[in-house]
Amino acid sequence: MELSSEIKNIKGVGPTRAKLLNRLGIKTVEDALFFFPRDYIDLMPLKFSQGSEEKTGAFPCIVKDSAIEKKAKSGIRLTLVPVSDGKNKGHAVFFNQPYINRNFRRGDRLLLIGKVRKNYGEYEIISPEWQKFDKNNPITLDRISPIYPLTKGLSQKILRQIMKSALKEISEIQEILPEDIIKKFNLISRKEALKNIHFPISFEMLERARVRFIFEELLLFQLAMAQTRREFVGDKRKNVYTNFDITPFLSTLPFTLTPGQEKVIGDIISDLKSEQNMNRLIQGDVGSGKTVIASIALYLAVKNGLQGAFMAPTEILAEQHFLTLEKFLSPHRIKVDILKGGISRAEKDRILENLKKGSTDVIVGTHAIIQQDVEFFKLGMVITDEQHRFGVKQRQELVKKGYYPDILVMSATPIPRTLALVLYSDLDISVIDTVPSGRQEVDTYVVGNDMRKRVYDFMAREVEKGHQVFVVCPAVEENDLNVSNVEDLGARLKKEYPALKIQVLHGKMKNDDKDRILKDFLLKKIQVLVSTTVVEVGVDVPWATLMIVENAERFGMAQLHQLRGRVGRSHLKSYCILISDSKEETARSRLKYMMKSHDGFEISQIDLEMRGPGEFLGVKQHGFFEFKLANLIRDVRLLESIKLLASDIVEKGYLLLPEYKDLAKVLKEKMKI
Ligand code: ADP
Ligand code: MG
Repeated sequence: MELSSEIKNIKGVGPTRAKLLNRLGIKTVEDALFFFPRDYIDLMPLKFSQGSEEKTGAFPCIVKDSAIEKKAKSGIRLTLVPVSDGKNKGHAVFFNQPYINRNFRRGDRLLLIGKVRKNYGEYEIISPEWQKFDKNNPITLDRISPIYPLTKGLSQKILRQIMKSALKEISEIQEILPEDIIKKFNLISRKEALKNIHFPISFEMLERARVRFIFEELLLFQLAMAQTRREFVGDKRKNVYTNFDITPFLSTLPFTLTPGQEKVIGDIISDLKSEQNMNRLIQGDVGSGKTVIASIALYLAVKNGLQGAFMAPTEILAEQHFLTLEKFLSPHRIKVDILKGGISRAEKDRILENLKKGSTDVIVGTHAIIQQDVEFFKLGMVITDEQHRFGVKQRQELVKKGYYPDILVMSATPIPRTLALVLYSDLDISVIDTVPSGRQEVDTYVVGNDMRKRVYDFMAREVEKGHQVFVVCPAVEENDLNVSNVEDLGARLKKEYPALKIQVLHGKMKNDDKDRILKDFLLKKIQVLVSTTVVEVGVDVPWATLMIVENAERFGMAQLHQLRGRVGRSHLKSYCILISDSKEETARSRLKYMMKSHDGFEISQIDLEMRGPGEFLGVKQHGFFEFKLANLIRDVRLLESIKLLASDIVEKGYLLLPEYKDLAKVLKEKMKI
């Protein structure tokens, strides 16, 4: 069978299961092989007293009596099966499975696999997997058993069977690493690693399998970075800068630069003086003043006879940036324009014509401004945001058009330095480490659901003062997770506060609708905006003074900090109220930390330590590279040596060698995304 064969060709997978597997992202045999367990159970038999609430264990026991049915206050139906492990008594506890008791008779021998908690001195094994055994049916489990992420309708048992069948096709798996790397880093083969990641023969082999795949992930990631960097650095500067005088610009600013801003400007100027093009990331907390930095870079480009482009993630943001840049730059006879949707053909033609002629100096817009039909007279400076940083491809497109711009990337999510160095190893990094003085801190409170009414009354009072309010929910509509959602909460608030102008907003809406709503909010036609995290991106609403976050435990700290940054953008006293009933300890301490700290870097460092980079970065934020196993913090030592290896491979051109053919192929596929 080929690795690319559809999953339904595997023994035991019919059309129904194939559909369920598709839901897990498994479409082919290869997908199944690379669908890794999320955890493992050590099936060494344990006594109840050796079990814990954290770690799944295996407990051989005997059924002592018939099952007890109970109904909890919440309406959940419980089935308690009395069992004994020979030393202690306990119960296997099942939820909402009223027929399960039919499976058990007094005297049955069971292997229960699950977590154990103590309830009034009694051991309880919660929702265990179970298996009967006796002399005729001995247990045939592997010593170490995988636990897969599941979807409704698929059980661990079924997935394990499917994985076993898929592994029969393992002979098709090819090695992708060259022999010398495998030797040098003492890695096991790809085949061996795959077998052991699913059904480890020992914990030692499991560890080696994990290391092998972590190595692969990190190597591909660093190769991509090294290649991107080489493409960029490959350009010798074509645009020569001679004028570095920014005093005229500074003299018209209503404030003086912070030391952090000055340092970053210094970095930019030395980039522009160097032989190579600039590829720099500017990291700065919300409100640290990144837009001024961008303005100065554009000012320098224009004063040296070049044009600039400023790209924003949305049209609304583009409009806001346009206004700011125009305010800063027009006193210096710099012509700023904006390219947006919904304008007439004639107007668009005029804008494009001016760009081409060079009578427009700076153009603001979404990513579309450097694409297709847009031509420049002499584009020299491109400013973009983190989400839209250039890949090699876009860069090549610009170069094909004859532009060799310097590139500045703005990041609003402060990322701890260690992580930034590897995530952005294709860029040089500057950090604005000071925030303009005189900015007010946003008072932050964590409250339980019981305070809701008071929170919303406070909201109404803020609105009465002429201020505006954001309410953020984790979900759009009603859901199984039982978390607050935009639609229900929006409806409820409209009913309870009929005098307020309340509007809902979420990511599933059409872009035009979203833009219109945000504009109405900016114009104060809307007083309360109930939304998902679409407001996270930096819209500037000066009158917004209150940010309410529902089910705050469901958001990362860095994200909460971003949300909080939406208020407190004027002289008005502002508040952030985090609503959460979570009893979970780390969730509580994360939220409490938000009350104490207002420093984005500090918050993101803590967030990263508590949640690990996978969740910290979020799949959406970094579609660029997603790790299954690697952990950029835990694996930082390995990462450092891999970084050296990767730049060596790229610089010496090894990817063209026959031994590197397969690795080069996989890399190419990855980089296409
Ligand atoms: P960021 O994009 O980094 O969140 P902005 O560039 O939007 O921050 O700046 C936030 C606010 O601070 C703006 O109103 C800006 O004019 C102001 N600002 C920027 N730099 C300074 C400074 N050095 N001193 C005082 N105010 C500043
Ligand atoms: Mg900004």
